[in-house]
Amino acid sequence: MQDRINFLREELNKYAYNYYVLDNPLISDFEYDKLFNELKELEEQNPEFITLDSPTQRVGGISTGFEEHKHKYRLYSLDNTYNEEELRKWYERVQKEFPEKVELVCELKIDGLAIALTYKNGYFTTGVTRGDGIIGENITQNLKTIKAIPLKLFEEADVEVRGEIYMPKSSFEKLNEESLKNGEKVFANPRNAAAGSLRQLDSSITAKRDLSMFTYTAIIEKAKEQPLTHWEAIQYIKKLGFKTNPNIRLVNDIDGAIQFCKDWETKRFDLDYATDGVVIKVNRFDYQNELGFTSRAPKWATAFKFPPEEITTKLLDIELGVGKTGAVTPVAILEPVNLAGSVVSRASLHNFDEIKRLDVRIGDRVLIKKAAEIIPKVIKAVDSPEHDMLPVYQAPQNCPNCNSLLVEREGEVNLYCANLECPSVAKARLEYWVSKEAMDIDFIGPSVIEKLFALGLVKTPVDFYKLKYDDFLKLDLVKEKSATNMYNSIQESKSKPLSRFVTALSIRHVGKETAELLTNELSTLEDLKSASLEQLSNIEGIGEKIAQSIYEFFHDEKNLQMIDEFQSLGFEFKVLNINKTDELAGKTFVLTGTLQNMTRDEAGDKIKLRGGKTSSSVSKNTSYVVAGVNPGSKLDKAEKLGVIILNEDEFLKLLGEE
Ligand code: NAD
Repeated sequence: MQDRINFLREELNKYAYNYYVLDNPLISDFEYDKLFNELKELEEQNPEFITLDSPTQRVGGISTGFEEHKHKYRLYSLDNTYNEEELRKWYERVQKEFPEKVELVCELKIDGLAIALTYKNGYFTTGVTRGDGIIGENITQNLKTIKAIPLKLFEEADVEVRGEIYMPKSSFEKLNEESLKNGEKVFANPRNAAAGSLRQLDSSITAKRDLSMFTYTAIIEKAKEQPLTHWEAIQYIKKLGFKTNPNIRLVNDIDGAIQFCKDWETKRFDLDYATDGVVIKVNRFDYQNELGFTSRAPKWATAFKFPPEEITTKLLDIELGVGKTGAVTPVAILEPVNLAGSVVSRASLHNFDEIKRLDVRIGDRVLIKKAAEIIPKVIKAVDSPEHDMLPVYQAPQNCPNCNSLLVEREGEVNLYCANLECPSVAKARLEYWVSKEAMDIDFIGPSVIEKLFALGLVKTPVDFYKLKYDDFLKLDLVKEKSATNMYNSIQESKSKPLSRFVTALSIRHVGKETAELLTNELSTLEDLKSASLEQLSNIEGIGEKIAQSIYEFFHDEKNLQMIDEFQSLGFEFKVLNINKTDELAGKTFVLTGTLQNMTRDEAGDKIKLRGGKTSSSVSKNTSYVVAGVNPGSKLDKAEKLGVIILNEDEFLKLLGEE
């Protein structure tokens, strides 16, 4: 028992040092919390083994070189749980202390760094990290570079507020991309990036990083108002000029809080900042005071943590996949683990440069991450003594399928199989052709393609349209009904919009969005074939490189023959009957958030039918941003640029569909 306690304490202290000081976590938060909670439980049963340096006895951080500052009011951590039952138990403990129903406030738990800001007479004086909760580091100069921190409040007041400094996910991706280019250190996640940026001794570096802050607590010493509840306090600090998180809800009891947690379990992926859970707080301050604190955390609050997005597991093998462009990509084969609610056994490794950069070796323990529906990816290899004994991974030289020598293309990181006859490339093209993104042909998936290919019935997409009903009956396990479905579904695809056909052609650098931009301007195949390079590059959203690729595609004899063949097989593209005199004609829309009455794709079609365009990013040329529920960072950008923002009702009104 004592051995286990000692072991856990040592391990957790090592992980905490890497996490708080080096901004380089060795394991996922989920795994850390599991070990932490085990230690806590063992110590509760055997209090004689608790030592002063146990992580259960202190709050978070460790000092790293700034001037120390003693907090006037102590900062605490939060107890956390990953399950509903424990939330209910916590609420029972709270409720039994009071005769009246205990109201709760639910807020997103922002995954950043806690800081405390002091204001005197309405002016920002000092900003300090949480540190160990008693002593933090004075980082006032760095904090002054963050725009969301007001230097002067709208009202004169003496307050101390606490909040979380975070880096938007999009800025984190950009920062890492740049660091990669410059051969600098990349951060494991937005939280580490925010921590690293904030702890710069040179505040001009901090200023360059996109940091922001959500404020969630206020201790009001002298002010015009003296809130009696947490909910009122949040409204008041908003009035003083602080940025608070809009995703907050006042609920009657724990059922309401659990509903809030459920609502955000998936919706959180639409946000441009990381949140790892929900913080649930007792609303009334007098109740909070009565409940008090443990040595580490308040008894009047608790955190519900979302299922992990990151976890470590063993890399068993690296499999090679061949895509529709011939690009050979490595895929990590993993010891299966439960991640964000599903079992994961494969993850993306991007490309061979990335494997080299991460120095990931078969046999390593690796940290993997999943966000929203994105395929999980390998973030890094975990430092371990075993790592050095494993052989360094060597990129392949030959195609795993046809064995031809792989080639590099200038300016690209991938290795390519250039064999036009390579079966893997051919099958990947066929799979892409029928996919949702391209021609969206129901009933034909990878296994049907495999069979059609093996029988020599389909080699290129044109062959799909030469298949007769009887051909499908030649496939294993296919009966009349399925054969009819397959045949009809292929035939029906001949009248899909031109943009889908252009997408399906797999022209280099042309995906769904570019194909739409292109066919909005050039609405027939004849127009596309005869377009000049200049005409192509004048289309908004199509740069020179893409224009060149499109131009070359439509001037290649083999491609033209293939297109003729499609046309002779009865392709008839649906030309959208665009109303060019509509109020929406020529206007560019950006859609963000969830719409209640239609999907974003449907909204896009309605815009296009009226002669408008859609785009995925906001710029000064955007005419309108349509914001649904939980809009992303596009809304902030629209506000910054002064673009007109429509809610769903206003959008429907504009469409004449109230
Ligand atoms: P915590 O992050 O679990 O919770 C407390 C903190 O939540 C507060 O201090 C505050 O900063 C923050 N918070 C965010 N939104 C809030 C809101 N709306 N209201 C109130 N507080 C809010 O606790 P911690 O002590 O900062 O860190 C411990 C956690 O860090 C662990 O649970 C673990 O997940 C992680 N950790 C991971 C490793 C690792 O190696 N992966 C190592 C150490 C710690």
